[in-house]
Amino acid sequence: MAFSAVIVAAGAGLRAGPGGAKQWRALGGKALVRWSVEALLAAGARRVVAVIPAGEEARAAAALEGLEGWVTAAGGASRADSVIAGLATLEADPDEVVLVHDAARPFVTAGHVAALIAALEGADGAAPALAVADTLKRLDDDRSASTAPREGLWRAQTPQAFRFRTVAAGYDAWPPNETPTDDAAAVEAAGGRVVLIAGDPMLMKLTWPEDFSMAERMLAGSRTVRIGQGFDAHRFEPGDGVWLCGVRVAHTARLVGHSDADAGLHALTDALLGAIAAGDIGDHFPPTDERWKDASSDQFLLHAISLIAGEGGRVINVDVTLICEAPRIGPHRAAMRARLAQLLGIDIGRVSVKATTTEGMGFAGRAEGLAAQAVAIVDFPA
Ligand code: MG
Repeated sequence: MAFSAVIVAAGAGLRAGPGGAKQWRALGGKALVRWSVEALLAAGARRVVAVIPAGEEARAAAALEGLEGWVTAAGGASRADSVIAGLATLEADPDEVVLVHDAARPFVTAGHVAALIAALEGADGAAPALAVADTLKRLDDDRSASTAPREGLWRAQTPQAFRFRTVAAGYDAWPPNETPTDDAAAVEAAGGRVVLIAGDPMLMKLTWPEDFSMAERMLAGSRTVRIGQGFDAHRFEPGDGVWLCGVRVAHTARLVGHSDADAGLHALTDALLGAIAAGDIGDHFPPTDERWKDASSDQFLLHAISLIAGEGGRVINVDVTLICEAPRIGPHRAAMRARLAQLLGIDIGRVSVKATTTEGMGFAGRAEGLAAQAVAIVDFPA
């Protein structure tokens, strides 16, 4: 069924602690407000109005970049004023279903939306709610506690669903000097019948700093980690330097290869391809193809990264070991780590480059060539 949505993201969010207004704060690598806008658009919203603080349109554009179907409205002094501004921007038909939602509840799903719209049949409003499980205490003036009955009490969440005309009329009739704490309250006060559907702990509201920590831990549990490893070796011939991990190192030899023969980047590219079971570097860049003759191996790595990104993955850390008697790697290690971090788009603290010799044994020991091996950890949505 067609619906549109108003997402309230206009608060100062000061209780969430340092780090600024919470709607722009990163959760799982994206701004808090983006979670709800993305989810409601994915659930089929015709249009989503994000109600944001006046003057912060550029921040919203950055936070919602790449999504289509949303507009912003400037929020008011209270949550109710912000909802009213959002409804005015919707341009909805009177009978259209409108969901009103708080950006502070990021984990809304298409399942929640479908259940709310179904419950709206025969009612004036529908809201998810959880029974109160904890014992309720009232703190008296003398700081002593007494116990309040919890029977029949529910904790209302959002999104809440209404017909446009019903929620608009509810706010029209609401006394201007009072503030409803949710939208159902305005509809109820105007005589509407609001039904409750089963709430979901995942619709929790992020208010305090520890709420953000808990949400991050929940997200970590919803992702899965994959590992890949790679190995490569190239032969030396007389020359004046080698490419290793994207850095030029002066040497009395060069490495023989169709491309620039950067064994470090080749091993790492194979590790990344291995993490997504996407074959090996030779499948993607055949040595018989003239396009890759003397090519910079940067592009091989970037291709593997783009394949991972295409599956929703992100590189967590990499570890490369270079195996050679010479050249000495130590003086170039920092530059190699910096170059890999730049190519991978991750912090240098997640990029390791190590070196070892084979104590004179084997092809590396005889300086016929050098080898590299790499491990990459990548995580994906579960
Ligand atoms: Mg190679």
